[in-house]
Parts: sequence; C-alpha cells; structure tokens
Amino acid sequence: MASDIERSFPVLSRGGAPPSSGRKPWAAIALAVAAAAGLFVWLVAATASPPEKSYASTFDAGVYACAACGEPLFRSEDKFHSTTRWPSFRLAIPGAVTTRRDTSYGLERTEALCARCGNHLGHVFPDGRLAGDTNSDADLRYCVLSSSLEFRPRMNADERASEPR
Ligand SMILES: [Zn+2]
Repeated sequence: MASDIERSFPVLSRGGAPPSSGRKPWAAIALAVAAAAGLFVWLVAATASPPEKSYASTFDAGVYACAACGEPLFRSEDKFHSTTRWPSFRLAIPGAVTTRRDTSYGLERTEALCARCGNHLGHVFPDGRLAGDTNSDADLRYCVLSSSLEFRPRMNADERASEPR
C-alpha cells in the first residue's frame, strides 16, 4: 500500500522501486536508533567506568597529561600528599592549564581546564597548606579528576631532557 508517508514524501516511492521498499527508510531509522542506543550505552560506560583509575596516591616520577588531547599538564614534582581523595598539585606546567569562574551548584569556585582542548580538569582552591602541602608558596591546590589525566611515567634522564615544557 502507498502509505501516508509516501504520499507526504513522494521521493520515497520515486525511481521505480517496488512499493514494498517504501518501508525501508523506517527500517534504516530503526537501525539508526538501535545504533544510537548502543552508542549511548557505550558513552555511559566510557564516562562512568574508570572509578578504579585513581592517581590520588601515585607519586612516581613522570608527567600527568590531558586524558583528552595528551598535552602535558602537571609534573609529579608539583604533586603533594593531599588529605583529600583527589590528585592535588601545587602548580601546573606553565601555560598548560587555564582557569575560569565557576558558579555551578551555588558555589563560587575556580574551574581548571586544559588550555589546549578545554577538557574539564577540576578546580583550583586556595587551601594547599590546609590540604597537606608542606612546600607551598602560593598556597594553591589544583584538585584534579583522575579520569581527566593520563599518567606517563618518566623512564630515564633522556626522556626527561626531551620532555615538552
Ligand atoms: Zn586537553
């Protein structure tokens, strides 16, 4: 039968295709919806799955890069043993991290983002010493999500020398 859809969109039944093929676009749409649902499940899994990845107590020598674009953001030398559950740094690699005012949740905070790609990293708080930093000048704490970082251990002196600044 010529459906209402075909009368409304003649292009669907044009071109000598058998009348029964008029349903194919809907089959294609159903497939697309199923694919989108699969993608959604994958996205939820991808964004929610790494709870086991935590750099809070990682103190190996190396660089913490942006998990989204790979840009080096923090150095292990600037990480300190924080009383919080989050990886905490007293400073970032110069120019690698930008900040902006964040008033979400009714709070007044400073959001930290990757300067290269805008990836949300966490927040900057003026509580470095309070959170356990015994070597603080600026008393800042970059409170960073482990999931926003990718740790790259420093293997040897050569690698250190060629590290981007
Ligand atoms: Zn980035």
